[in-house]
Amino acid sequence: MQYNPTTIMCPFCGSDTLVILDGEEGEVEMVSDCENCCRPISVSAKVDGGQVEFIEISA
Ligand SMILES: [Zn+2]
Repeated sequence: MQYNPTTIMCPFCGSDTLVILDGEEGEVEMVSDCENCCRPISVSAKVDGGQVEFIEISA
C-alpha cells in the first residue's frame, strides 16, 4: 500500500492541510476536509508510480 501525503493550502482559511491520496494511481478527483476549518476542498490530482505529479485545489 502506497501513501501519498501532500500538503496543500486551504482556499477557505489559508492554512496548510494534508491531503492523503491513499494508494491512488492515475487521475484522482476527491474532496478533502480541511484539518483546520473542516470545509470541503475539491482536489484534482495525478499520481504516477506513487508520486504526486500534479495537484490542483478549488473551493
Ligand atoms: Zn481551512
